[in-house]
Formats: sequence, C-alpha cells, structure tokens
Amino acid sequence: TLSDRLTSVLKNLRGKGRLSDADIDATCREIRIALLEADVALPVVRAFIAQIKERAKGAEVSQALNPAQQVVKIVDEELVGILGGETRRLNLAKNPPSVILLAGLQGAGKTTLAGKLAKWLRGQGHTPLLVACDLQRPNAVTQLQVVGERAGVPVFAPEPGNGVGDPVEVARQSIAEAERSQYDIVLVDTAGRLGVDEELMRQASNIRDAVTPDEILFVLDAMVGQDAVNTAEAFRDGVGFTGVVLTKLDGDARGGAALSVRHVTGQPILFASNGEKLEDFDVFHPDRMASRILGMGDVLSLIEQAEQHFDQEQAEKAAQKIGSGELTLEDFLEQMLAIRKMGPIANLLGMLPGAGQMKDQLADFDEKSLDRMQAIIRGMTPAERADPKMINASRRLRISRGSGVAVSDVNDLVTRFFDARKMMQQMAGRFGMPGVGGGGS
Ligand code: GDP
Ligand code: MG
Repeated sequence: TLSDRLTSVLKNLRGKGRLSDADIDATCREIRIALLEADVALPVVRAFIAQIKERAKGAEVSQALNPAQQVVKIVDEELVGILGGETRRLNLAKNPPSVILLAGLQGAGKTTLAGKLAKWLRGQGHTPLLVACDLQRPNAVTQLQVVGERAGVPVFAPEPGNGVGDPVEVARQSIAEAERSQYDIVLVDTAGRLGVDEELMRQASNIRDAVTPDEILFVLDAMVGQDAVNTAEAFRDGVGFTGVVLTKLDGDARGGAALSVRHVTGQPILFASNGEKLEDFDVFHPDRMASRILGMGDVLSLIEQAEQHFDQEQAEKAAQKIGSGELTLEDFLEQMLAIRKMGPIANLLGMLPGAGQMKDQLADFDEKSLDRMQAIIRGMTPAERADPKMINASRRLRISRGSGVAVSDVNDLVTRFFDARKMMQQMAGRFGMPGVGGGGS
C-alpha cells in the first residue's frame, strides 16, 4: 500500500540540522500521488506541494520522527490549515430574519441539505422557514415539502395551480412572511442544472438580489472530483458564495474536491453531508477531511504514537533526574523551552487551581526574565550546565559578560536552580517518583 511504500522510502534517521532536500523530494512524490488519487485538481496539487517543500526546507529535524513522517506531519498540518483550521460558524444577521441561499448543480444535494440544515437549526433553538424556489423540476416543491415535514419545519411555496411561479417573487414574499410570522432564519432552496449555464446563474443571482442573503452556500457533490474547480469557479463568478457544503461524503470519494474548492475560491467549508437521512449531517471537520484526503490514517496515527512515546521518554528521563537530584541546567533549559512552546507562562500558571491568589508572583514570572534566564544558560559551557556546582565567581563574571546581564542575575539564576532542584527532589520523594533514594545532592 501507499503507506507501506512511504514508510519504507526512508530509514529511521535521527539527527540534527534541517530536513534534507532528498528526504523532502522523496516524500513529496508520494504525497503528490496520494493527492491525485484523492482527486485533488492538478494545479492545486502543484501549488500545494510547492508550499509544502518550502515549509519542509526550513524545518528542523525532529528527534521523535523520521524525515518521511515529519514531512507527512507537515502536509497534514498544512492541509488542516488550508481546509479551515477551526470551523467557521454560520453568519447570521443582527436583525432577523437571516437569509441563507443554497446554490449548486442539480443533484448536488441542495434540497436534502435544506432539510438537514433546517432540522439542525431547529435543534439549536432557531425557527427556520424553508422556501421553495426550485420551480423548474415538476416535483421539486413536493420534495421540499416532504423534507420539511420530516424536519418539522414549515415550507413556504407558491400557491399550487398558478402555473409556473416566479422564483424571485417567491423568495421576496418569503421574507415578508418570515417577518410577519417571526421565523428567524429563511432557507432558500434553488433550482440547479445538470451543467453550469447562464440561465441558472441569472436566476440564482436574481434571487440573491431580491433577498440579500447573509450566507450563500455553494453545495458541492464530493464525488465530482476534478470537476469541482470548474463548477466552483462558475458559481463564484455567476452568483458568488460565502461558504461551501460538501455532500455525499458517505461515498468512496476521498474528498479532494474539498481542497480544490478551498484553494481556488478561498471560501470556507462549513458543513458536511454524508447520507440521505436528515441526521447524516455535521459541521465540517478540517482534521478529519485532511486525513481522508491524505489517505494515510495509519501513518498519521504512527506519527502520533511516535511523538507521544518520545514525549513520555523525555518526561521519564526528566523525572528520573529530578528524583535523583541529577537535574542539570541543560535539562532546566530544555524544560523551559518545552513549556514556552505552549504559550505565555503566566497563562499556563493561571490555569492552575488557586493560582488566582498568586497574581503578584505570576506577574514576576514575566517573559523578559525567561528570556534572561535563557540567555544566561546559553552563555554557559556544556560542562557548567551539566555540573552547576562548578560555576564559581570568575565563571559567573564571564557568563554575565557573555550574556549581557548583571552578575547578580547569574547569581540569582544559580541560586534559584539549586533551590528548585532541592524542592523538586523533595516533592518527587513525597509523590513516589522514580529514582528517589538513589544519590541525592
Ligand atoms: P438537488 O438537486 O441539489 O436539490 O439534490 P437533492 O437534494 O434532490 O439530492 C439528489 C440526490 O442525492 C437525492 O437522491 C438525495 O437523496 C441524494 N443525496 C443528497 N445528499 C446526499 C448525501 O450526503 N449522501 C448520499 N448518499 N446521497 C445524498
Ligand atoms: Mg433540489
């Protein structure tokens, strides 16, 4: 399989420095195949791979992952980022009713989605109104009425027997009806054509102009694959849209259309439809879609395991050292950098219970003093970091000059380090951490 190939492309090299071009190229070849197999449009694949190479070149070699895994991880992160990071919520009007217009080709799943959205919105305490503006197909209105009944949401439709109604007029009247009867969201279902055509676009944009939607959702069948780009561009230029809904994700499509559409139009994907029943519907999850497109679920979980294992190894090593009093300034620096990756220290400490009363101390623990500590430790020789006891007065002077701080700062740091080490060792003893009883300082 693809994953096997990928795993065997590169040996498990661990080292320092940057990822090599050869590593990056070899892995990107596999990624390219994976994306094309997922039906991502070719120009999008090209642009995406270029972006990945750029980022991978700057990446430091990971201690926990081999280069192939590392590139896959970068690809996964970029995919999640492009697909939207966190999911955007529906844009609703300050003054109801909000108007949501659905557009897309015939058979994309608009009418079904209208019912799903209506039910979902009702579940969130909204009072939606479904509006039948597909007056093209003979049974379209009835279809929406059936869907509305299942969703428990009323349907606004033209009076029967009036011949073919005017969808623009129906849309306009539905807003007045929503205002009158206090519906807070109007969901407008429109007609589609089998292919993109001008009349379809004109009708949809006339409806748009009549109701000024807060959100225009482009409904796209995920099975269309390579065609996604053309269709999305046609709807972007013809009607414009503010969000995308992918349907038929219960099929075997790997979902490349998601990446293509997002890349080409920049509009976010808001929802995912995955079945014919009204419940087969969810907000869009970029992380799930990324691993579906990549089709390397097993590689991704290996990566996760490798990282967790590595973190655990590191933590155990640190605990061992703390317990035995062997903690060095090198470890201290390493831990500090690890913690800093997680965000400002004050925020972290602020999350601890009872930290509210420690506000003053927390304020002391500012980022500047961390920068200073980091500079001081960096100014020490490896031998000094490993055995802080050797840091005598003349060494302190040298370190202070080298790192641009006062000698008293160096003194402070060394004292605090010894205090911390002693305190941690005592705590480790009390909590029964490993390594206790052996050694001592
Ligand atoms: P419209 O022409 O855009 O209004 O599309 P419809 O809502 O009428 O859907 C066309 C067909 O696709 C119908 O048979 C639906 O049951 C089916 N359909 C819609 N959404 C999904 C989905 O997410 N999964 C599957 N399997 N079928 C769907
Ligand atoms: Mg329909």
